[in-house]
Amino acid sequence: MTAQLRDNPTQAQQEDFTASPDSKIAIAAANVSMSYMVGDQRRTVLDDVSLSVAAGDIQLLMGPSGSGKTTLLSVLGGILTPTAGRVKILGEEITQMPRSQLSSFRLQNIGFVFQGFNLFPALTAAENVEVVLKMQGDSSHPRRTARELLEQVELLHRADAYPRNLSGGQKQRVAIARALAGHPPVIMADEPTASLDSKSGYAVISLLRRLAKEEGTTVLIVTHDPRIQDVADSIAYLEDGRLQGALLAG
Ligand code: ADP
Ligand code: MG
Repeated sequence: MTAQLRDNPTQAQQEDFTASPDSKIAIAAANVSMSYMVGDQRRTVLDDVSLSVAAGDIQLLMGPSGSGKTTLLSVLGGILTPTAGRVKILGEEITQMPRSQLSSFRLQNIGFVFQGFNLFPALTAAENVEVVLKMQGDSSHPRRTARELLEQVELLHRADAYPRNLSGGQKQRVAIARALAGHPPVIMADEPTASLDSKSGYAVISLLRRLAKEEGTTVLIVTHDPRIQDVADSIAYLEDGRLQGALLAG
């Protein structure tokens, strides 16, 4: 992979952030910071992060363990509210939305694959996917659609299994199928191939690539997986909560 550093990513991203809602930027963050009080010490986890992801791109977020990747993805996905800064998804400023509006916005627009999968333990693999389709309310055959989604991640044969009886890689694939439910325009995934063997890893990577290239889905992936780098349009690096610059893959 060859890569070049953007001249001034921060300035470019500020312009992206203020652009009109119909701009081609699907994910924009401006001056996002996140800190926590640990005892009586303030701990800064994200420090003035600005970035943007063009619609239909696959962007990776890389960096050492503890650099803030999961926190940043959670902020961009509307799961955590940042201490400072603004986030826009598809032109809508989610950092300004009331909680209830944000929940339904996320449900319709952002498919999120959690690092720890977050499956419902009392529901089967198929039901874990079905429940999202039902909440979205626009699938006329949620049962059938859930099975089709499991088939896409090559897990149809485990549709009726409960999470406790699935391997880590199988749970990861249920989490991915669930994130694809309802064709969200934005998919965010936290180390989505970490538990997968190489065959399933490739299947997931080609699936994400197809969604981006054929359906225009915007895909933001936290990963260490060098195979994903080959399909990425750009890569952002975090270190100690600071963005080190965006690399353009190519
Ligand atoms: P990564 O995904 O890159 O491994 P994380 O975003 O999970 O990093 O965490 C970055 C840092 O923030 C870690 O040092 C972690 O301990 C700290 N951190 C994350 N969440 C909290 C929290 N709720 N309270 C205090 N510190 C936190
Ligand atoms: Mg993480």
